[in-house]
Amino acid sequence: MPKTFATLGQHLVNQILPKDLQDESQLSKGTLHDKIRALARRDTVDAAPRIEALRALGHELTTTEGISASLADITPDYKTRERVLRPYLTAVQQTNDVTKRRELIRQAQPKLLEATKSHPGSFGIMVRSGARGKPVQLMKDVAAPVMALEASGDPYPWLIRHSYAEGLRNSEMWAANTETRNNQIDTRLAVTEPGDLAKILVNNMTDQLITVEDCKTNNGTSMSASDPQIVDRYLARSAGGVSAGSLVTQHILTKLKKSNVTNVLARSPMTCEATDGVCQKCFGLNHRGRVHSLGTNVGVIGAQAISEPLTQFALSAKHGTRSTVADKSIVRGHRGLRQLLDVPEAFPNKAALAPFSGKVTDIRKAPQGGTYITTTDADENARTYAPPGLMPKVQVGQKVEAGDVLSQGIVNPAELVAHKGIGAGRRYITDSLYDVYKQQGVDVDKRHLELLARAHINHVRIDDDPQSRFQPGEVVAYNSFLRRLAEDVKTTAIGKAEGKLLAKGYGDYSAGIIVTPTVIHDLKKQGVKQVKITPEPPSITPIMRPITRNPALHPDWMARLGTRGLRQSMLEAVHFGQQSNIHGIHPIPALAYGVEFGEGKGPRY
Ligand SMILES: [Zn+2]
Repeated sequence: MPKTFATLGQHLVNQILPKDLQDESQLSKGTLHDKIRALARRDTVDAAPRIEALRALGHELTTTEGISASLADITPDYKTRERVLRPYLTAVQQTNDVTKRRELIRQAQPKLLEATKSHPGSFGIMVRSGARGKPVQLMKDVAAPVMALEASGDPYPWLIRHSYAEGLRNSEMWAANTETRNNQIDTRLAVTEPGDLAKILVNNMTDQLITVEDCKTNNGTSMSASDPQIVDRYLARSAGGVSAGSLVTQHILTKLKKSNVTNVLARSPMTCEATDGVCQKCFGLNHRGRVHSLGTNVGVIGAQAISEPLTQFALSAKHGTRSTVADKSIVRGHRGLRQLLDVPEAFPNKAALAPFSGKVTDIRKAPQGGTYITTTDADENARTYAPPGLMPKVQVGQKVEAGDVLSQGIVNPAELVAHKGIGAGRRYITDSLYDVYKQQGVDVDKRHLELLARAHINHVRIDDDPQSRFQPGEVVAYNSFLRRLAEDVKTTAIGKAEGKLLAKGYGDYSAGIIVTPTVIHDLKKQGVKQVKITPEPPSITPIMRPITRNPALHPDWMARLGTRGLRQSMLEAVHFGQQSNIHGIHPIPALAYGVEFGEGKGPRY
């Protein structure tokens, strides 16, 4: 019996797709995108004509059928809107308490958004399929915006109940003014900011080349066994019957999903131990399903992949998707991205972190609003401040470790790095950046972000060194710090390692951190029995600088001439007698000196 399909569209698309990708589920921009991606990954030669056919089909259908909009499409559905908004509107009108009003408005918006998703007509179809527009835009057009943001980012305490289609009332216009102005400013900046960030990223990542075949590390980053992002990576540790060193394919992903393992340790640019750049195994396969050849500048490729979707971010801000319910613990859009990378002194909605390991001994309201949380250990007390609206996440009496989160809000990555080390910082920034893209509907390859994290969070400051391997105050690149640590290590049972300095990385716990009870607990759970420690450790502070200033930490003084602060780079180079490797993997020294790029064998431009 011939297969039947729910719609003509599905039938037409299925005729173009290979058998195993045909199905009867509802087609949307997202599902079609996934199918094309699967197709392209598998076999580029087979994929090309099919993708071409899909494109032609789209063109043909727009001329034969076309989709048009009529006034009926934007006619507000007054009944539904009234039903959803009425209880909130009444409650808002009954109180003069601004905080309560804001809360009610925050609750009302997602309800109306949900109701709008089933709006009939061509606009509804376009939004649901993902072809054009977002649900929130449709909601504002045909139902009501409900909420407009003030300059502070809080909702204006008035519920906007009319739609753009019927026209806002004067008072509602007034309420929405600030947000409208903000959106206008964002649109003007939208053109300049992505270009600016692209340049900064390239400055930071330009020397991240594929330099060796295999750095031979048995370390990696912990990932969910069902995360499609583990495909095209190599496993760092055996899991679910798949041995260490295996390449994860779609087939192996399915196998891992079926097995009982929840997490796998996968090779990652973050934990690669290559001295310069990254190795082929830690970076994994490219979009064509092959290893990157030696010399490939995956840094510049990554910088482009990360900055390319930014214009889209800016545009969605313009179209008003910004004004939806905002959770202060979530970083969003282009601004959120810059906040995480620029780590400004005044970090908006900053979560309180434990300043050292100890116990929470007091939580009290601060007179200016917000909360004071006191942490105490054997020798000291410290009060950490959580701004208004960010509730404490700990209780009095609770034990905490340095860098643990004490309140809601956004964790400042630079603080996290200082407390929890390079590895935890890299992991956090990768995950947070990934979430920012995800919210905008962009599924960026995480390895680009991991590489950025590797380039960005890459230095430690030496506070003191009993063995005089380093100068106090010296800022050292992480990998050269690790090489020096590796000269003098001791192996010890994990249970006896508390308070010691790790000389080697284990998963997301990087070398250079002090072993705490949590670290011991986690590593034991992962099956780690012994760890390598440094017997006479230097005392260090891992550092993360704003991304614009990060390239100025590069040890090669000529490489620093490709970025800002030229005068200081020159002066430092003279004062400290610094050198430059004109035959290295950074392109600037070769350019500045005017020689051929590199020499001899290996990865060269
Ligand atoms: Zn590696």
